Amino acid sequence: MTKNFYLTTPLYYVNDVPHIGHAYTTIAADVLARWKRMNGSTVFFLTGTDEHGAKIAAAAEKTGESPQVFVDRIAAEYRRMWKVLGISYDDFIQTSEPRHKKVVQDVFEKLKQTGDVYKGMYEDWYCVHDESYFSQAELINNKCPSCGRDVQRLQEESYFFRLSKYQEPLLAYYAAHSEFLSPSHRVNEIINFVRSGLRDLSISRTRVSWGVPVVSDPAHVVYVWFDALLNYISAPGYVPAAGNTAPFSDRWPADVHLVGKEIFRFHTVIWPAMLMALGLPLPKRVFAHGWWTVEGTKMSKSLGNVVDPHKMAEEYGVDAFRYFLLREVPFGADGDFSEKSLLGRYNAELANNLGNLLQRTVTLITKNFGGAIPITPAPSRLLSDLSAITARIDAAYNALAFHDVLEISFSLMIRTNKYIDEEAPWKLTPDQKEKLSIILLECFSVLKTLCVFLSPFMPGKMNEMWEKLGERSSLTETGPKLIESFRKGQIPLPSTGQTVIKGEPLFMRKGDRWK
Ligand SMILES: [Zn+2]
Repeated sequence: MTKNFYLTTPLYYVNDVPHIGHAYTTIAADVLARWKRMNGSTVFFLTGTDEHGAKIAAAAEKTGESPQVFVDRIAAEYRRMWKVLGISYDDFIQTSEPRHKKVVQDVFEKLKQTGDVYKGMYEDWYCVHDESYFSQAELINNKCPSCGRDVQRLQEESYFFRLSKYQEPLLAYYAAHSEFLSPSHRVNEIINFVRSGLRDLSISRTRVSWGVPVVSDPAHVVYVWFDALLNYISAPGYVPAAGNTAPFSDRWPADVHLVGKEIFRFHTVIWPAMLMALGLPLPKRVFAHGWWTVEGTKMSKSLGNVVDPHKMAEEYGVDAFRYFLLREVPFGADGDFSEKSLLGRYNAELANNLGNLLQRTVTLITKNFGGAIPITPAPSRLLSDLSAITARIDAAYNALAFHDVLEISFSLMIRTNKYIDEEAPWKLTPDQKEKLSIILLECFSVLKTLCVFLSPFMPGKMNEMWEKLGERSSLTETGPKLIESFRKGQIPLPSTGQTVIKGEPLFMRKGDRWK
């Protein structure tokens, strides 16, 4: 049994319905999961919702629902969104589920016994309206940063996690595992933060009721981060008493935690320290991606410029939307979302380049060979470096450099379109059939290769392209074998009598309303 490739999105907090930010992280995770499956790995892809805390209880009260009904409703919105966007997750965990709460309670008791969790006094600025504490630094003009009301200095009994104890072990871990903090431009921020000194972390509340109660002291509920982070081990089946047994041992440690940059610190400081306290191995990599602005401004509910993924998928198709998010901005950097740019890339790259390459190839094969793909023994010029291209594609996927995967695929596409222009097969005379065969077989082979490279981004459209090329097997099933042969430089050929299917263009050009 080889270890699963285990990757996660953060658990999305249910105070909001899903928007482009959530879609971005989840699509990126899905692309990686699909590539890994295509490479023959068993994948465990986890997503879900973070559901506890005073804010959620208050939001439920506003809608007149019980907290459980409220969180189940929002979690269903997320599931619906992931279905629309073609997200192939293997598990969806809600922190209000019994399987999660049990792990949180058992971990809490275990760490209480080892002394890593202890009881003390918590003191900070408290807003009665929001039922939340804020630090001095968070206050705005000494008022609550959330509602602007007065705050009061308050103390309560709280359990603490001995985070300070892990300062040196964390620094040693970062130094020994260069991939753990990714991308590399985020390394210094975390190391400087840890070096500046870690304070023990308050991890329970007595003023909040919607949460996981502490078994040995039920007046306390576990405070949000300590609860939510544990999903990464509760979902794959961690049992504190049993330790490292299957299915958990087949999955843990995670290969990648994908997070937004605003929660990078929680995942690279608190989370690994919790795992060290539990004696568990640490995730191999935590990768922070950037933020989106919309048409140059910060996205916010009050500005009314929140991008609705449903609407974009409806207008441009799910595949084009998935493609665009990972094409527009190098993964890890900040980016700006503009519908104009989405339309531009849709027309120029998907319709005019990829779609056109398929359309002219299929049309020429239909016209000259009655649809049957010609097979010739001539060596391929376009794919003579297929093993090197495949190695670069794989390296880019593994580095989460999705833009590089698309860039490499694109240059292959452009090269092929240029090759057709130069060879001008429509000018060949009937006695030049052999030359025509070579040109069309070259194009067919490139298109088949692109199906494999691009299907994690555009699973629907690449399946369509696969069928138009006359392939009968399923792309997901044949993919792993094909990649194996690509690595050896074996150029994909059609089978005898394989016939292309001429039909509607893969991507219909769209009118440019900005012109
Ligand atoms: Zn407030």
